[in-house]
Amino acid sequence: MNPGQLIFLNGAFVPKEAAVVSVYDHGLLYGDGVFEGIRAYDGNVFRLKPHIDRLYDSAKAILLEIPYSPAEMEEIVLETLRKNRLHSAYIRIVVSRGAGDLGLDPARCPRANVIVIAESLALYPKELYERGIRLVTVSTRRNRSDVLSPAIKSLNYLNNILAKLEAKNAGADEGLMLNADGYVTEATGENIFIVKHGALITPPPYVGILKGITRQAVMEIAAEDGIPVREDVLTLHDVYTADEVFLTGTAAEIVPVVAVDGRTIGDGRPGAMTLRLLEAFRRLAVTDGTKISPAVEDRVG
Ligand code: PMP
Repeated sequence: MNPGQLIFLNGAFVPKEAAVVSVYDHGLLYGDGVFEGIRAYDGNVFRLKPHIDRLYDSAKAILLEIPYSPAEMEEIVLETLRKNRLHSAYIRIVVSRGAGDLGLDPARCPRANVIVIAESLALYPKELYERGIRLVTVSTRRNRSDVLSPAIKSLNYLNNILAKLEAKNAGADEGLMLNADGYVTEATGENIFIVKHGALITPPPYVGILKGITRQAVMEIAAEDGIPVREDVLTLHDVYTADEVFLTGTAAEIVPVVAVDGRTIGDGRPGAMTLRLLEAFRRLAVTDGTKISPAVEDRVG
């Protein structure tokens, strides 16, 4: 997709074809590692620091040492974008436990593998935002926090993948995951919001979700706009009877949901509040971020 693409791999920028890691990498063998998905809009990396913070929190939770400081990692992301001359992009950071002998013990892996990929963005089709998507509740429950915390953005995504497969097999666009108690958590790779009587409600972190950075941005936009917004546990009944439903995520931004388990949401078209928030989010995304290139004045001066 990007000829001449350069990948950051353990301290060097290498051509895509040469960007390979060992078959003994514990990320591959056991899903042992963490990752981030970040987006750059028009020369600004959206909420870079919160993404880097989440990466280091995920790493800390699994006792994985990243051989760079968070500030260095921010710079690596920016440099990967510069090297690939990208202004609008999707960025993937992967930190795996690294290569080690077979066997689960992370002590077998002396050094983490650090990978940063930046690619021009494969945008979601426009029609998705115009017609909205259909959700089904899947039987695969979201990981319990005391089994594998959904707050960790780990390389172990099988829980979400099983849910995605189930949703697609049922002919839906996305799967809605409940926790072990039957409360709504999130979709397979996005957070969920409902709109009811003019207020925004999204499940709280303690039900077991990834604390989405887009979710946080949407809550801030709503608060600034005078839209009541709160975290609250949601049942399927709350979702079925919502005025509007939408999902949030770095790649997806804000995607309207028009049906859940065969129940039409609102009038079956993307809701007015959802579209208003999407517009506000896109305005924010192109202005609020870390500049990829130093300002011209800085370079001359
Ligand atoms: N939940 C899950 C399980 C995800 O993988 C993602 C995507 N990172 C999200 C929610 C949305 O998070 P964000 O807005 O930070 O992309």
